[in-house]
Amino acid sequence: MAASFVDKARITIYAGKGGDGAIAFHREKYLAAGGPDGGDGGKGGNIVFVVDDNMSTLMDFRYKRKYTAGNGQNGMGKRCFGKDGETLKIRVPRGTIIRDTATGAIMHDMSTGEDWVAAKGGRGGWGNMHFATPTRQVPRFAKPGLPGESHEITLELKLLADVGLVGFPNVGKSTLLSVVSKAHPKIANYHFTTLFPNLGVVYVDEGKSFVMADIPGIIEGASEGAGLGHDFLRHIDRCRLLLHIVDVSGSEGRDPVEDFEAINAELQQYSEELSSRPQIVVANKCDLLSEETHENIARLKERVESLGYTFFQMSAATHEGTRELINECAKRLQDLPQIASFEADYVPPEPQLGTPEELTIENVDDMWVVEGPWLQRLMARINFSDYESRMYFDKLLREAGVFQRMEEMGVHDGDTVSMYDLMFEYRD
Ligand code: GDP
Ligand code: MG
Repeated sequence: MAASFVDKARITIYAGKGGDGAIAFHREKYLAAGGPDGGDGGKGGNIVFVVDDNMSTLMDFRYKRKYTAGNGQNGMGKRCFGKDGETLKIRVPRGTIIRDTATGAIMHDMSTGEDWVAAKGGRGGWGNMHFATPTRQVPRFAKPGLPGESHEITLELKLLADVGLVGFPNVGKSTLLSVVSKAHPKIANYHFTTLFPNLGVVYVDEGKSFVMADIPGIIEGASEGAGLGHDFLRHIDRCRLLLHIVDVSGSEGRDPVEDFEAINAELQQYSEELSSRPQIVVANKCDLLSEETHENIARLKERVESLGYTFFQMSAATHEGTRELINECAKRLQDLPQIASFEADYVPPEPQLGTPEELTIENVDDMWVVEGPWLQRLMARINFSDYESRMYFDKLLREAGVFQRMEEMGVHDGDTVSMYDLMFEYRD
């Protein structure tokens, strides 16, 4: 009973590649040789996670496993920049935990509702217009775009019920739950019957699914808290909509209107708040109606509607009316705000700094391009307009052996060094 039900999905995300920089030269009628005018490639699109409060399960991720953002466009001549790749937004339910699949480390907790960039698109490469210097008028050099980040991630969500089933024993709550949560063949992956007999995921349509839970024992002394685990009480607390099931067949020799009132009274005693949640009252076992019991429906309907509740009728056993009921639930849930409050227990992992050894040094003619995550992070912390900071930067590069590696590769005095947005002349 205390087991909590965790929904999981494993996906791969690919941010877009940056566009390549262009190698191009300015041409004009009266100019023999124009200057370099190759533009930069566009930036690759990011992968961004976004909270969608209309979602409450990870159902959609069972059918789509790969998510790819747009690539940046290549740069063009005449200093034309490539267009940035399109961002891909992935919608997840609030409270989804995003883990790195390989290590299991938590990367992010989608509880606050803020968007989160999970994979950054690659930088666009610089076109050759950046690489002209007074001494190098014809740079046949441009940077390719960088690949976007990609991650294998696992999404995790603790399922809490959106819809709670209430009613006397034997009115058909379990039957309805099993019918609607297994009705869709795609549901087969959910082994909720063994994990948690009272909880089911109802798949409505793409992007639309919700969690339904049987709230057992409300009548059997639950208002005194007997036997219900803490986890289950949380389920009840989060229900935004109650399905109140009433047996109208008279098969147990009881009166449906009296049953309906009795459950409501019990609910109110259990929790004033819960009893004030919207209800859909469902007359069940309509397949068993006889001539004498047929008027039960009309009587119950009148009472229910006089209290402002919605009335439905069905037969859970023959599935008659169950689909309509589910669609109505989905429709109602769209307008009902989430009740959950999520406590974020996320501790950010140590950032991956990379090492100076991983830096790449590329050399074409008198052009040197140095790149790598270590350098990128270092540069983000340096204030280049401040002399002291520049000296510190220089010192760190030296200590990391960057200049020594360049010397070994044959760098000359006066060559140009490009490090991301920084360009300078090399001096011994
Ligand atoms: P719960 O105690 O509310 O969970 O009720 P159950 O789902 O266990 O159902 C109690 C009994 O009623 C079972 O024998 C079901 O097969 C039966 N039952 C449930 N729904 C219907 C229905 O629509 N028509 C008929 N004829 N029997 C039903
Ligand atoms: Mg039951």
